[in-house]
Amino acid sequence: MRAILLGAPGAGKGTQAEDIKQYYNCAHISTGDMLRVNIKAGTELGKKAKAFMDSGGLVPDDVIIGMIEERLEAPDCANGFLLDGCPRTVPQAEALLELLDKMNCPLDVVFLFEVDDEIVVSRLTNRRTCDKCGKITNLLYHHGENCDCGGILQQRDDDKEEVIRKRLAVYHTQTAPLIDWYERKGILRRLDGKRDRSAIFDDIKVMFPE
Ligand code: AMP
Repeated sequence: MRAILLGAPGAGKGTQAEDIKQYYNCAHISTGDMLRVNIKAGTELGKKAKAFMDSGGLVPDDVIIGMIEERLEAPDCANGFLLDGCPRTVPQAEALLELLDKMNCPLDVVFLFEVDDEIVVSRLTNRRTCDKCGKITNLLYHHGENCDCGGILQQRDDDKEEVIRKRLAVYHTQTAPLIDWYERKGILRRLDGKRDRSAIFDDIKVMFPE
């Protein structure tokens, strides 16, 4: 499967990506995760990206496109890939189209996760990441300050409410135009992102039989 997971931050893309990756055996590419790895490692790319991310804005298109180009050439993408959180702008989508044409591997499908803003705010203000095993937990469903592995649950800097509202505004102005863009190409499939993980995954399996 060669797919894009499109939707607001907190719409459930990362959660579904775990199930899709396992079932369809394809690479999970989260540009947000790649940027955070670069920030942690103190790379030049990470230094460039940090201020944009902390403020809830987007990292410049040329940085993202260069990063994706290199990643898609990795061997684990040969059997398919899931782009999670990318593209986020029309210029990124255009560059991706050109790149995939050149590689002779067109996109199969774009899954759009539809969720109301207030659900996103509630989910993200309660989202935590374990500092030890990296597992993502939500305080709406998990009690206590520790992960099951004993690690400490930490909140991402950009998961504070004020930054979330900014990220949502950026999504509506810069990323949402991609919905029409992919709809016109006939590959957009809509998912009701309010439902639980397994119900959404069942829809995906029907929309894209193995
Ligand atoms: P995410 O983990 O997908 O929510 O991304 C976290 C942050 O990384 C975003 O708020 C942006 O600042 C940045 N980011 C991730 N992917 C992209 C992208 N494709 N284009 C621009 N900025 C991105």
